[in-house]
Amino acid sequence: MGDDGVKNEATEIMGLFQVLPRLVVFDLDYTLWPFYCECRSKREMPSLYPHAKGILYALKDKGANLAIASRSPTPDIANTFLDKLGIKSIFVAQEIFSSWTHKTEHFQRINRRTGVPYNEMLFFDDEDRNIEAVSKMGVTSILVRNGVNLGALRQGLAKFSQNLDSSERNKQKSHKLSRKSSSSERDQS
Ligand SMILES: [Mg+2]
Repeated sequence: MGDDGVKNEATEIMGLFQVLPRLVVFDLDYTLWPFYCECRSKREMPSLYPHAKGILYALKDKGANLAIASRSPTPDIANTFLDKLGIKSIFVAQEIFSSWTHKTEHFQRINRRTGVPYNEMLFFDDEDRNIEAVSKMGVTSILVRNGVNLGALRQGLAKFSQNLDSSERNKQKSHKLSRKSSSSERDQS
């Protein structure tokens, strides 16, 4: 399947969901491309996972913002590759720096830069520890095994809707509870 075929299918998948994330964040190494860019030379021509480009453009066309959160120790190589692939300008935020914080700091910066709350973000990464830390912040986070693909996209959007539903339900619940407690306060007075 070519980029256009993937893009069409990704658009169809997005059509299945009523709410889409406002911001979709991607790791680079082994999520968008199948290598560690620190092990490559800037002179090489990189390639993405087969579904990556179609998914990025389908999300963008549907109005989602895109961002990168990478702990690569070689941001210069990563940036050169994004440039060579012609996708650098589609990301509204690019946080590429090595850190010990499992991407917590990356997401704090992305949040400050974009103003998008954590519960309106969707994140794809190939490392458990990143997924664990970032989902604790309230971001819907999906572990990818062979790079980002249509299956991971569908799974991500489904989990995003589920998380949103349950946070809406919790909001309603706490709203009800606060109404209940304020009426019982009234009863007591
Ligand atoms: Mg990675």
